[in-house]
Amino acid sequence: MSVSDTLGRPVRDLRISVTDRCNFRCTYCMPKEIFHHGYEFVERGELLSFEEIDRVVRSFVRHGVRKLRLTGGEPLLRKGIEGLIAQLALIPDVEDLTLTTNGALLDRKAPDLAAAGLHRVTVSLDSMDDTVFMAMNDVDFGVQGVLDGIAAAATAGLAPIKINMVVKRGVNDGSILDMARHFKGSGHTIRFIEYMDVGTTNGWRLDDVVPARDIIEMLDREFGIEPVDPSYRGEVAQRWRYRDGTGEVGVITSVTQPFCGDCTRARLSAEGVVYTCLFATSGTDLRAVLRAGASDEMLDEVVSGIWTNRADRYSETRSSQTAGLHKVEMSYLGG
Ligand code: SAM
Repeated sequence: MSVSDTLGRPVRDLRISVTDRCNFRCTYCMPKEIFHHGYEFVERGELLSFEEIDRVVRSFVRHGVRKLRLTGGEPLLRKGIEGLIAQLALIPDVEDLTLTTNGALLDRKAPDLAAAGLHRVTVSLDSMDDTVFMAMNDVDFGVQGVLDGIAAAATAGLAPIKINMVVKRGVNDGSILDMARHFKGSGHTIRFIEYMDVGTTNGWRLDDVVPARDIIEMLDREFGIEPVDPSYRGEVAQRWRYRDGTGEVGVITSVTQPFCGDCTRARLSAEGVVYTCLFATSGTDLRAVLRAGASDEMLDEVVSGIWTNRADRYSETRSSQTAGLHKVEMSYLGG
């Protein structure tokens, strides 16, 4: 029973936040001034259990989801995450089971994640330069630790690996070519992400965004690149390849070239709220539905209602008016 929303978009991808906690304090995502010791993260008992996540995922799969991504917060901080992966890997019709991580714990965890049935990983890395990277993650974590995690993931077979780099003007735009050079020919695909106005705590300004077309021009001048056709509807990154055949890069243009028309993603927060847009101000509490004893049929009815009523197209309507909205933080609803 595949469903479509009010704009004719099916639901294909489910992003599952397994924790709102993180061991980094990236200044553009979880700035220390807000996410400090006194910050009230979701309590353990408030988190969806693995069984509850499994039920919600199965319902979304019945409605058309084929791709699952575990995220957060930092998903590798969730105790027993391998157990959840093993459970999700058993669900028929799931074609892609993946996870986004900052890579800090990947060196240690990659073999167990692969053994549990994870297909691949996306690793975030914002610079090859320790000074720049540490200033961005704000916990003094060095580049080599992430590179070790990427190497461990590749050895464990969690490939092809994608590398996410959020580009912020005047902060790490000087690292774009270094990053491209490092991963060119490695078999890993780097994706340059326009800095987005997610949540309300990162002090986002349009002037901080480096438009993807500038990044593309820079890469073309240095290495020579050409566009690649998207491989499926709803692919978020625009794909480009090096003309010399040494691999691909992607750009994610949420700010300058919105792709709401093709957005097939739903997001499940760590405490069970479903959001139908990364820039949402509210969602639907499925934990309450589950804990009230709902049957699978009742759960399906709620999930179906969430999707068929969906009308979000935030990035296409972004303006000075939307800037003041009280949007949910990305670390909470799942990046
Ligand atoms: N902790 C994991 C990680 O670091 O990859 C997963 C969660 S994180 C919120 C997911 C992705 O969102 C990361 O690649 C991160 O860089 C990106 N991100 C966070 N805030 C962003 C923003 N304001 N604009 C663009 N991307 C952002």
